[in-house]
Amino acid sequence: MPGFEVFGDEEKKEINEVLETGVLFRYEFGDQRNNIYKVREFEKNFASYCGAKCAQAVTSGTAALKVALAALGIGPGDEVITQGFTFVATWEAILDIGAIPVFTEIDETLNMDPADLKTRITDKTRCIIPVHMLGAMARIEEIVAIAAEHNIPVIEDTAQAAGGRIKGQHLGTFGNCGTFSFDPVKTMTTGEGGMIITNDEKMWRNMSEYHDHGHDHAVNPGGRGGEGRSFIGFNYRMMELQGAIGIAQLAKLDSMISAQRSHKKRLREAASTIPGVQFRTLVDEAGDTATFFAFIMESSEHCRQVNTVLAEEGVGAINFSENSWHFYPGWEHLLKGSTLTSSGYPFAEPGGKRRVVYDPEALPQSADILSRTLVYPVPIKMSEEQLSKICKALQKAAQM
Ligand SMILES: *Cc1c(COP(=O)(O)O)cnc(C)c1O
Repeated sequence: MPGFEVFGDEEKKEINEVLETGVLFRYEFGDQRNNIYKVREFEKNFASYCGAKCAQAVTSGTAALKVALAALGIGPGDEVITQGFTFVATWEAILDIGAIPVFTEIDETLNMDPADLKTRITDKTRCIIPVHMLGAMARIEEIVAIAAEHNIPVIEDTAQAAGGRIKGQHLGTFGNCGTFSFDPVKTMTTGEGGMIITNDEKMWRNMSEYHDHGHDHAVNPGGRGGEGRSFIGFNYRMMELQGAIGIAQLAKLDSMISAQRSHKKRLREAASTIPGVQFRTLVDEAGDTATFFAFIMESSEHCRQVNTVLAEEGVGAINFSENSWHFYPGWEHLLKGSTLTSSGYPFAEPGGKRRVVYDPEALPQSADILSRTLVYPVPIKMSEEQLSKICKALQKAAQM
């Protein structure tokens, strides 16, 4: 990570093709665009890369979640379960659609704990959003099986794990749909952008129309209908320049992952000498995107000592239990119910009655695991010097 490390002639060529036509809009302008439809082509390539039937490009990974929730008919009165270790975007989308986020513990996969998921399902649960955090897979097959028992749809938040697989099957294709982000720090990037993949054509149709004000694209692909609208929508359209960059970045994704995997292997070897160290549980090691390297100590005390040595060597790692963007107890605005809305919505109903109250102590298992976990982002390009600096620091920490 991230994909901008490998921007090159391929991205420039794709962008220039768009600029030469002057058409930055993904629809219409048929007589001007010389049959260039970059967003449409990016969708087609992305779906085919993942082995999905349909793909819908949108403006961001957050928009992808929102559009997917909308297409599934989620709204006020509904509960949506996700994990307490994720980026804030996952639950922002749930609140924005009017539903209430319910948080599960994570286990040593650093993703949703299926056993805990079972205890959080109520008669109001309308959707489950497991996240494939830090480049690697949740126990998605178990989660989908639990959801199926209750007839609850699953959205896989795959923002951080594009290109990840389990037994060769792409993450994002296990649930009803998978959402992706191409923001500036993701493995492949279009600056801003997102995608939803699904095998459900009806769901795709809903997403396609919702993300473009209710326009019907099925009658006139590449254009917009002109026929009647089925429901209200919004604007989450991706533009042609993003589609162009996406085409070039997607073509490089497997090579980015393989570079990361070789760097991660070196880091893992060096860290394996730390007494008592464990590695994050990978459901399928062969399908890890290796965008991050996570290692888990036996105690939070030892974890702190290890990171002190790493920091002294100039290569301190991330401890996500101290991170205010990715872990539940650090989301003070969620816990306090801070909102611009004068009525207090979505945390309160008009009239002031609270719809939900969050307890900062609600996820002790996640807090324990994350307090013992250190994480390095794994760049695509890493010099021998950078690599050996971290490896030496890890070995030093192992000997203390
Ligand atoms: C980045 C991210 C998102 C949001 O993507 P944006 O494109 O930045 O809106 C959603 N979920 C997770 C887990 C992410 O890491």
